[in-house]
Amino acid sequence: MTLAIIGAGMAGLSCASQLRKAGLSPVVFEKSRGTGGRLATRRSVYGGFDHGAQFVTARDAGFKAYLDHAAGLGRAAHWVDPASGDESWWTGTPGMSGLVKPMLEGLDVRTGQRVAQMRREGPGWVLSLETSEEQTFDTVLLAVPVVQALDLLAGHAAAFPGLESVDIAPCWTGMFVFDEALPISLSVIQRAGDIAWAARETARPQREGDAERWVVQASADWSRRYLEETPEAIRPLLLKQFQAAAGVILPEPAHADVHRWRYAKVERPLGQACLWDGALKLGLAGDWCLAARVEAAFLSGRALADAVVTASAS
Ligand SMILES: Cc1cc2nc3c(=O)[nH]c(=O)nc-3n(C[C@H](O)[C@H](O)[C@H](O)COP(=O)(O)OP(=O)(O)OC[C@H]3O[C@@H](n4cnc5c(N)ncnc54)[C@H](O)[C@@H]3O)c2cc1C
Repeated sequence: MTLAIIGAGMAGLSCASQLRKAGLSPVVFEKSRGTGGRLATRRSVYGGFDHGAQFVTARDAGFKAYLDHAAGLGRAAHWVDPASGDESWWTGTPGMSGLVKPMLEGLDVRTGQRVAQMRREGPGWVLSLETSEEQTFDTVLLAVPVVQALDLLAGHAAAFPGLESVDIAPCWTGMFVFDEALPISLSVIQRAGDIAWAARETARPQREGDAERWVVQASADWSRRYLEETPEAIRPLLLKQFQAAAGVILPEPAHADVHRWRYAKVERPLGQACLWDGALKLGLAGDWCLAARVEAAFLSGRALADAVVTASAS
């Protein structure tokens, strides 16, 4: 059986690695240059910024075991914030995408290859890549945010009722560097005004560089309100909100960048671990199936792999 997975975020890679354990050989297509999806790090001359997910937690035994395994390989570390004392946070090392690296072993992952379209031809699926190249597979699994899945599914979306009801909130994220340490005793600020989260990068485990740099995530409401603004307009606005949340007068940043996540955190998930249509040999996975968490993406990917393996055995 030939099998393609679209998307090399946590869901796509957990699905691929589980399929590989079952003896299958999936081909993973990823449009970005790197793997990890929203487990992302933006490089700068001042050091990296984890501008997507900042930490993960594990409730499921399988995900806990995976994090322990990743930690053993130097790809995950506990992050205990002194203020909250919460010991349940994990980060990837040296950046968040480190969390998916242990799953890449032995996988055929093709980065920089966006799947532009897919169509049914005979018993299989033809994937058209952005480069105009076409490849045919028996089975296709989509591990991309639901809105992008709907685009790719086109006429086949009717096979999966409920997709339209999934709702995903955006998130404007700021990356700021200051010449000197800010007089903020906390290294994490949560839910303060229009700021959902702000964290000092150097307080996180094994981060390179000692420049005073902060990742600042706006709330879903604020991000929706300013969704179509330009990055130039967002930079000072977000900085102002950060100042209000931190309760200090901020100096002019030495570096300021923003990123708009149009599909950041699912607010109304599907409520099912994954979707699989055995007749079409078509499946879907992603955090949006279950919850706005990396763990949910991991579990969704595994659930889809199990559904495919069960179907191919019967
Ligand atoms: C700002 C922010 C903060 C967050 N904070 C946290 C947090 O603190 N803790 C937590 O647990 N979770 C957090 N999350 C959520 C977490 O990042 C996601 O739940 C998880 O990473 C989703 O994984 P995924 O594999 O489902 O999707 P993604 O990570 O989105 O992966 C999908 C992949 O598909 C690729 N792709 C899309 N379309 C195509 C195409 N046509 N062809 C090829 N490739 C394609 C994308 O490039 C991407 O790599 C946060 C997210 C954001 C954005």
